[in-house]
Amino acid sequence: MAVNNIISLMGPPCSGKGTLTNLCKKDRTFEIFSAGNFCRKSIEIGTDIGNLILKYSQNKSLIPDDLIVDVVSDWFLAKISKKNIETKTIIFDGFPRTAKQATLFLDFLNKIGVNFNFKIIYLIISDEEVLKRAFSRLLCQNKDCQIVYSENFLKNKSCEVCGSDLIKRADDSFENIKNRLKKFIESSKKVLNFYASSNIRVEKIEVTNLKSLDLFENFKSKLIL
Ligand SMILES: [Zn+2]
Repeated sequence: MAVNNIISLMGPPCSGKGTLTNLCKKDRTFEIFSAGNFCRKSIEIGTDIGNLILKYSQNKSLIPDDLIVDVVSDWFLAKISKKNIETKTIIFDGFPRTAKQATLFLDFLNKIGVNFNFKIIYLIISDEEVLKRAFSRLLCQNKDCQIVYSENFLKNKSCEVCGSDLIKRADDSFENIKNRLKKFIESSKKVLNFYASSNIRVEKIEVTNLKSLDLFENFKSKLIL
């Protein structure tokens, strides 16, 4: 079984990972797994995993790395059993988030014998721009959609794709964003160190002043490198 490209998309909150994966969704050559969206949806539906995740978040404790890797591995195994998957690029949005997740996931890929090309695409953005974007960010409340909009460019407060209402993300408060940013910087340093020691390629895209379509083009150009 051969899979062409497996991409881990890394970047702080509000760096455009959601925008980018939404553009990829419209392109049939991509399969996307968004850890954040998956967790929010599992909680809403109330699956076993969802209830477990909810318990962790209610206790304000982190979801264990092995649980996350199990969830992703299950998703991945289901995907690669499908037709034509070897012609697609699989994108993990916001995963692996920690060095332990990265280690466990690479072990998993090696174990199942998939011939893969694993590469990281890392979005670089200034802290100021993250905070600016966080304040103007609105999310489609339809859990099957979850498109992110910027208030500044919005004509009306409903989703252009599915028509659902747009809401502020519950975790987009100033303190929350600052906290998530700090955590991201800490954990991503360790993840990048791990990749460097494992000879995994990391491609960087500076996104602070990049428009979403330019980001998409830039992203695609990194895939063929
Ligand atoms: Zn929508």
